[in-house]
Amino acid sequence: MHDLIPVGISSCLIGERVRFDGGHKQNRYIMDTLGKYFEFRAFCPEMAIGLGVPRQTIRLVKEDDRVEAVGVKNEALRVTNELIAIAHEQKSWHQDFFGYIVKKGSPSCGMERVKIYSNGIPLQNGAGLYTQTMMENFPNLPVEEEGRLGDPVLRENFVHRVFIYRRWHEVCEADLSWQTLMDFHGRHKLILFSHDQTLARQLGKDLSEAHQQPLSQFAEAYISRFMAILKKTAKRSNHVNVLEHIRGYLKQELDKDDKKELSDSIENYRLGRLPLIVPITLLRHHFRKYPNEYIERSYYMQPHPDELMLLNSL
Ligand code: SF4
Repeated sequence: MHDLIPVGISSCLIGERVRFDGGHKQNRYIMDTLGKYFEFRAFCPEMAIGLGVPRQTIRLVKEDDRVEAVGVKNEALRVTNELIAIAHEQKSWHQDFFGYIVKKGSPSCGMERVKIYSNGIPLQNGAGLYTQTMMENFPNLPVEEEGRLGDPVLRENFVHRVFIYRRWHEVCEADLSWQTLMDFHGRHKLILFSHDQTLARQLGKDLSEAHQQPLSQFAEAYISRFMAILKKTAKRSNHVNVLEHIRGYLKQELDKDDKKELSDSIENYRLGRLPLIVPITLLRHHFRKYPNEYIERSYYMQPHPDELMLLNSL
C-alpha cells in the first residue's frame, strides 16, 4: 500500500454539483485511475465567494489594462477581488499540495486560454483568476487542466511532476544538506536530460559550484529551475539520447544479439513504432542481470508506478 499524494482539484471535476447550473463535470480518468495515487482535495472558488447554485455566469473582461470577472448578463456583478482574495486565503491549504487539477475554460479555475472579452470580442489568452493567483503564490506547484490530461504527453508530464515535487518535499523535510541535494539531483539527472539537455547541464554545473552559498537560498532557486525544466515536455529525441546513454553502461555485458535487440528497440522507439515502455523494460531486464547502482537509483528507469501505464502511450 502506498501513501496517497495530496492534490487539489476543482470540485466539479470530482462530481460535486457546484457548476452554475447545478451540474458537475466528473472526470472518470481522474477519479478511477489517478485517484488510486492521489488524494483529491476539492474546492470551488465561485461557491466559496458565495455565488451559490444556481448562479449567474461570469466571464473575464478587459477593462483598460485590468482583467475583471464580470456577470455575463448582469454587468453589475463583479467578483474580481473576491476570486483573488479567496486564492490568497487558501494559501495555507494549497501549501500541502503537490499538484492541482483545474477545470479548463473557467474564468475562475482555468489555467490557460480562458476567454477574455475585449470590446465584446473573445481572445483566448487568459487564466482563471483563482488559479492564476494560486500559480503566482506557488510557481513550482504542478498545475494542469482536466482537458489537457487527455493528451498522453501532457498527462505523463503532469503526473511525473507531481511525483517529483513530492519527493523534493520529502528530502527537504527529512534533512536537506548538500549531500542529500546532490543525491536528489543525481537520481533525477537523466529525467532532466530528457526534458532539456542544455538547461539540465547548466543546473548540474551550478549545483557542483554552489557549495559556498547558503544552502536554503540555493535550494529554493534550484527547485524553481528544476520544476521549470520539467514543465517543458520531454522530446522523443531527448529520450533517445538518454536511452543510448543508459545503454552505454551495458557495453561490456551484453552479447551481440542482446545488443542488437536493444538497439532495435531504441531505434523503433525513435521512429515512433514502439512506445517508451518497451526499451525501458528491456533495459530494466538487463540491469537486473547486470546491476549498476547509478542506473538502479535513477528515477528515469521507474518514474511513476507502472500501473498508471503512462510510458505505454509515449
Ligand atoms: S470550474 Fe471552478 S468555479 Fe466553476 S464549478 Fe468548477 S470548481 Fe466551481
